[in-house]
Amino acid sequence: MSETTRRRAVPEPLRRRALDVYQRLRALALDLYRASGGRPDGAETFELPITIELGRAGMREASARHGETMLRDLVRKTEDLAASLLAFRPGRAYCFFCQSSSCAHSEPPTAMSVLAGYVPTGRPRWLRRRRLLRTTRGDRALSVARRAPRRDAPRLPGE
Ligand SMILES: [Zn+2]
Repeated sequence: MSETTRRRAVPEPLRRRALDVYQRLRALALDLYRASGGRPDGAETFELPITIELGRAGMREASARHGETMLRDLVRKTEDLAASLLAFRPGRAYCFFCQSSSCAHSEPPTAMSVLAGYVPTGRPRWLRRRRLLRTTRGDRALSVARRAPRRDAPRLPGE
């Protein structure tokens, strides 16, 4: 029996219960998200690890502990999401590595730094503005910047 076949063999009542649990968890996350100031736009997603202990000994205590851990993770994720996607944080970038715009990576290292993109791990990549012009837009962009009066200097995203 293949893995796929076994998955399809879940009895309908259990499948409905699983979907019900998911919907309840989603509703809880949505309430927590709204309580943090988030306004859902349909694009927000995050992963939530949940530890489920099936043993009998100390099951009640373990369930309470794992439940508290799940709630704490849920609160943290929804707060971070609300803060990073909805609250304006002038001069900061979202850090996909930390899933936050309040970590050290999200802050430009100097006042002359601009967001140049992201490194593969999801951390913002900051460059000094002049270096960004040289490295990402080529000599042509830099020559345009040199010729143009200051007020007409090419604008970078986020300026
Ligand atoms: Zn970060």
